[in-house]
Amino acid sequence: ARYVPTRKVDSLCPFCGVGCQLTYHVAGEGAAQKIVFAEGRDGPANAGRLCVKGRYGFTYSRNRERLTVPLIRKPGIPKGVNLDPANPLAAFREASWEEALDFAAAGLARIKRAHGPHALAGFGSAKGSNEEAYLFQKLVRTGFGTHNVDHCTRLCHASSVAALLEGIGSGAVSNPVRDVEFADLMIVIGANPAANHPVAASFIKNAAERGSKLVMMDPRQTPLARHAWRTLQFRPDADVALLLSMACVIIEEGLTDPAFIAARTEGFDAFRDAALQYPPERMAPITGIEADTVREVARAYARGPNSIIFWGMGVSQHTHGTDNVRCLIALALMTGQIGRPGTGLHPLRGQNNVQGASDAGLIPMMFPDYQRVAEPEVRARFESLWGAKLAEEPGLTVVEIMDAASAGRIRGMYVEGENPAMSDPDLEHARAALAGLEHLVVQDIFLTETAMLADVVLPASSLYEKSGSFTNTDRLVQMSQPVLPLPGEARQDWWIIQQIAQRMGLAWDYAGPAEIFGELTRAMPSYAGITWAALEGEGAVVAPKIAVEAPSQPVLFQTDFPTRNGLGRFVPVTPLPAAELPDADYPMVLITGRVLEHWHTGSMTRRAEVLDALDPVPWCGMHPDDMAKTGVSHGEHVELETRRGQIELEVRADEGVQRGSVFMAFCYVEAAANLLTQPALDPFGKIPEFKYCALRVRFK
Ligand code: SF4
Repeated sequence: ARYVPTRKVDSLCPFCGVGCQLTYHVAGEGAAQKIVFAEGRDGPANAGRLCVKGRYGFTYSRNRERLTVPLIRKPGIPKGVNLDPANPLAAFREASWEEALDFAAAGLARIKRAHGPHALAGFGSAKGSNEEAYLFQKLVRTGFGTHNVDHCTRLCHASSVAALLEGIGSGAVSNPVRDVEFADLMIVIGANPAANHPVAASFIKNAAERGSKLVMMDPRQTPLARHAWRTLQFRPDADVALLLSMACVIIEEGLTDPAFIAARTEGFDAFRDAALQYPPERMAPITGIEADTVREVARAYARGPNSIIFWGMGVSQHTHGTDNVRCLIALALMTGQIGRPGTGLHPLRGQNNVQGASDAGLIPMMFPDYQRVAEPEVRARFESLWGAKLAEEPGLTVVEIMDAASAGRIRGMYVEGENPAMSDPDLEHARAALAGLEHLVVQDIFLTETAMLADVVLPASSLYEKSGSFTNTDRLVQMSQPVLPLPGEARQDWWIIQQIAQRMGLAWDYAGPAEIFGELTRAMPSYAGITWAALEGEGAVVAPKIAVEAPSQPVLFQTDFPTRNGLGRFVPVTPLPAAELPDADYPMVLITGRVLEHWHTGSMTRRAEVLDALDPVPWCGMHPDDMAKTGVSHGEHVELETRRGQIELEVRADEGVQRGSVFMAFCYVEAAANLLTQPALDPFGKIPEFKYCALRVRFK
């Protein structure tokens, strides 16, 4: 009877940005309730489909490591050194909510009094709801008194957003994934949707089978390439050169759309002059792609008739990530491949609510809805809405906050649902910075690697336990519903944030998510037409929706762009080398990414039994020729070493990995990839270069 479901609840998947809707079937009573199985619902983004994470990943919510009571670090226990490595909880004692909240808020307030507001910072979460993100950034801006608030978008698509806001005035996707139904050609560049957006990958595959030409462009050949019309496995870091050479072909061969360029864009001449310097014949030794192939793909993209571009972190996580996306925007603008079904630009979002958390203002230089902190009239509007004086200077970004913590300028942090002790580059540095804080408050569902360094840990809610709105990669705002009760004394995230706010002197008294969402829609013009009742009733509403009666806009930019003058903007770029190139000491290249079964830092999926059983140990992929040169065999162990750190793990033969490079995922705490990665930043998006650093491999 324990496994016979007695009720079912419609909600969402907690993992990727595709935003699948599910029905969870629940058995048991009271605290013993558990999800028995999950099935896909006919949601707009998934049409009943699910991947392995959505279908089997839910068990993390009842993992025995779930935090169920507030924790305070025991006196005299140095951070980063636990009493018992097998029992990290031993560094903490249990506390009441009153004591833990008082302790958490008092520590933050003490630092603010002694060192000023900018000695504090907060990381919110792309796994939380829009309401939680909105509330968290409001707390940091009005309660802490600083704009030092950021989240993991800084580590995934910050460069995409920077280029998109600059080029077309909106950081969101122009067309939904399922628009591939109308596409004649699909470019997927720097992305592995089969692992990271599997349901989206299934729609792309269906479109390819129907006859749409699929072009896969990536240094690593991934499973979707089996369905590709052309696969361009270019050299790591040669992306700007490759994209400029495509633009060069389109311009040289007269394949641009002059009417679109004249009517809807500005700055083409400067971009054209730059791009013409990079014909594919000249770039071939750099990109590794034959000129004829580049010309063939460029022609097909321009001629469409409908061509769409998807990209992922292989594009964005570079010191030239913004330049990469400027090139993609330029391709769409010069050919008019935007503003119609089956065309456009789609940066595939990572976490299930990274779009919504960004929209809701978890960004240091922008208030909700990308309204700039530096603009006085914008600040005045938010000061009026929130009844608080706001700092004038934009805040620091994720990696900048870690550097400031390391230098002693940031002394206290509140981390809600993020795990920078696994997700930041150069982890030794990041972990030391977190451990060196005077006061670290962590709010999470597990004792993550970040929580292990905390002074106080506040047990929070998983998606399965909350009502909330979440915005997927397609800009669909969808509603989660509580499937299970909160375990033990864990609390709703919005409630915890409000409790901290009250203790820091803010007169907040929100009754729940619906009221918070109401205020959010007054702060965010693009959500102004979305009501809580509509989300509960319809289950999904497309943003932007500026008024209740305004039509949905699944395809944006049909007549103009939301820039100051309505025009799309070309920005010329030149290829630049990565921040750290291979040399005699470190002759190979490390590329990091994800695997199908595990999600990001693994805090959830490594605790989901089925998923962890499918992929239980850390591994890296190397080309068989590189393995043969050294005599190492599939399944043996190697040491990966960079200038920042060293790890040991299993090596697997992977013909999809280029000779001279190594691929590994960043989800394994036993062999954390980010001990190796380096923190050089894109100057515009401030995103670290996770996708390229110099590496040496030691064979055991
Ligand atoms: Fe969840 Fe993404 Fe898989 Fe859908 S594709 S089930 S949203 S992880």
